[in-house]
Amino acid sequence: MGKPTGFLEFDRREEAYAPVEERLTHYKEFVQTLSDEDAKVQGARCMDCGIPFCNNGCPVNNIIPDWNDLVYRGNWQQALEVLHSTNNFPDFTGRICPAPCEAACTLGINAAPVGIKSIEHAIIDKGWEMGWVQPQPADVKTGKKVAIVGSGPAGMAAAQQLARAGHAVTVFEKSSRIGGLLGFGIPDFKLNKSVIDRRVAQMEAEGVVFKTKVIVGDKNIPAGINNDATETVSAAQLKQDFDAVILAAGSEVPRDLPVPGRQFKGVYAALEFLIPQNKEVQQGITNPINVKGKHVVVIGGGDTGSDCVGTSYRHGAASVTQFELMPAPPEQENKALTWPYWPLKMRTSSSHKEGETKREFAVATKEFVGDAQGNVKALKAVRVEWKDGKMSEVAGSEFELPCDAAFLAMGFVNPVGSLLDAFGVEKDARNSAKATTDGEGCYQTSVAGVYAAGDVRRGQSLVVWAIREGRQCARAVDEFLMGASVLPR
Ligand SMILES: Cc1cc2nc3c(=O)[nH]c(=O)nc-3n(C[C@H](O)[C@H](O)[C@H](O)COP(=O)(O)OP(=O)(O)OC[C@H]3O[C@@H](n4cnc5c(N)ncnc54)[C@H](O)[C@@H]3O)c2cc1C
Ligand code: SF4
Repeated sequence: MGKPTGFLEFDRREEAYAPVEERLTHYKEFVQTLSDEDAKVQGARCMDCGIPFCNNGCPVNNIIPDWNDLVYRGNWQQALEVLHSTNNFPDFTGRICPAPCEAACTLGINAAPVGIKSIEHAIIDKGWEMGWVQPQPADVKTGKKVAIVGSGPAGMAAAQQLARAGHAVTVFEKSSRIGGLLGFGIPDFKLNKSVIDRRVAQMEAEGVVFKTKVIVGDKNIPAGINNDATETVSAAQLKQDFDAVILAAGSEVPRDLPVPGRQFKGVYAALEFLIPQNKEVQQGITNPINVKGKHVVVIGGGDTGSDCVGTSYRHGAASVTQFELMPAPPEQENKALTWPYWPLKMRTSSSHKEGETKREFAVATKEFVGDAQGNVKALKAVRVEWKDGKMSEVAGSEFELPCDAAFLAMGFVNPVGSLLDAFGVEKDARNSAKATTDGEGCYQTSVAGVYAAGDVRRGQSLVVWAIREGRQCARAVDEFLMGASVLPR
């Protein structure tokens, strides 16, 4: 423990944001990494708890008190080693993780929790700046071949672990870039894509082969899901050519809103807006959807919805309203009831603060209203109330608001089924790939040698869970191929 009285002496120091007027003029990251001094002070606040709840609250079980202490002492390189021992990509999580570790921090019971995520961000950014992040190719090759379908954080983490264990890894990706939802989906202002690309270069130097624009299985996937593939590889071919296959294909089918008027032009699934926007920023291909001067309604209150809000403000939308079906959560959580678990509380993202976002809670969309040309012009909604987990409409509360563009951001229901069918993989009750995460045969699907990790298995989730599953799945595959594994669990 760096400074025994640090938590009494120092307040939490937040990362600074560029001013709104400035950041709305571009799509670049606007969060400024902590200075060395601020990171040191933040590290000094850690109490090195006997039972570090932060470590348990973190899905990759980051060894947080150790790197807090190392940063306090100025030993950044060792802090980086500790950080990398549990997390392949702290540069992703240090930027976009919701930080369940901070919700679990003991200091958070009666004060502001340690700014764990900002310290993680500072460690990994310094690591790259100092040239400490280097490829770690395996000394001995095993001669075993592993195919990974999908290059999101789950696929990337599995690929890096397996390559470092000496296996020949090929990642197949139907998009024109690597990164899954991090590459196309999450806007650049939350995660600059160079952060992914430098990891890809590191992994290529470790022997991983990336094949973009290659779809595995059926090339005819549902409309609206990104597919840049110019080449198809069958499931049978992969099973024949590789000793093991990992499905890390995400959960790409969006939840729809089948109300009257859904067919009007201007009503889109969120990623129909966000992916072309990523392509515009990264590849110069104009986004066919432009909401400049338009009244935008975002339906759904999570990360995806928030990214639509921030992107709409950058386009110059006339107004942005966000709907959420659930009632407004409390401004402050009840710590006595929730700690150390993830609390239900009002979350206001940086995107919400980039304009006068009108947030409507406990409302349900009833209908989209269109004009003679088939363009959406308005939206009809009703207020709802919740009792004993059941929702009912409030009589007489119907209202209408102008809407020139609506983005459906209500989550994702399951992976594209035809991929799982192509491998003959059994599905669970929610149509995700069925596989357990513990014990013998963990991460293995119903088909021998075919594994599943990340959103394709657990359903729509978080980057940090995808990294955890990719790492654990890599160990399971290594054990399957070699009979034993030294990869961490
Ligand atoms: C807009 C948005 C914002 C988000 N913001 C956050 C956030 O701030 N913080 C956070 O923690 N999480 C966030 N998430 C969730 C997070 O991005 C996902 O949980 C995570 O990316 C899942 O990782 P994955 O590797 O399992 O799958 P994905 O990232 O979905 O990657 C799967 C990849 O597989 C490819 N693929 C699928 N089928 C095939 C096939 N047949 N052949 C070849 N390739 C295929 C896909 O093209 C895709 O690239 C967000 C999600 C969205 C949509
Ligand atoms: S719970 Fe908070 S104070 Fe305790 S070890 Fe973890 S970061 Fe430090």
